[in-house]
Amino acid sequence: MFTEDELIPISVLQHYSFCPRQVALIHLEQLWEENMYTAQGNALHERVDVVHHELRKNVRTEYGMAIRSLTYGLIGKADVIEFELRTDNSYKSIIPIEFKRGKQKIKDHDRVQLYAQALCLEETFQVSIPEGQFYYLQEHRRSTVEFTNELKINTKHIISNSMELLLSEKTPQAHYDKKRCDRCSLKDICMPKAVNEGGKKVGRYIQTQLRRMLKDSEE
Ligand code: SF4
Repeated sequence: MFTEDELIPISVLQHYSFCPRQVALIHLEQLWEENMYTAQGNALHERVDVVHHELRKNVRTEYGMAIRSLTYGLIGKADVIEFELRTDNSYKSIIPIEFKRGKQKIKDHDRVQLYAQALCLEETFQVSIPEGQFYYLQEHRRSTVEFTNELKINTKHIISNSMELLLSEKTPQAHYDKKRCDRCSLKDICMPKAVNEGGKKVGRYIQTQLRRMLKDSEE
């Protein structure tokens, strides 16, 4: 079990899934830059982050609810949680719902965040949560995500790897990936191309020096 002081934000998992170096730049080096994608995401969350709840028939909907898991060491805030209640007020189902800009992604970054929320809710309410939902702004509709074994295993790996990275206090080297880096708000600070090029240049310089030393010692 983790203590309150040891909990890490659920958002770290989404960042780690996208790029481990991004986690280190944000959480270890305290660097952050807005870009078009993060600004749109923030504007969207400002609309759903106001804490309140609604009750309609047998469904209670909580907005901006604080969640945590002492078992997995996570803390965060859920955009929306829908509690379907039975007549005796026990929970028939609990569904975490995340609001996202854009449309459904092929990669797991958003799904990891959603399942991590489910882990927190399962621990707090002692229920099993088999699925969650996204509301993608561009699609104007909810889509259901099943929490598959693969997603569960991947998320748990990401939780332990993220914690390890934060504890190590070491920023991983950049690996330039056009698709990913061109969307990253930290691209200008991270300079993935320059770092990679710099790494290659340093590597070439060391090899040249070693060859020269070897040649000198043979003469
Ligand atoms: S620019 Fe690329 S390597 Fe750097 S943090 Fe962003 S995604 Fe990671």
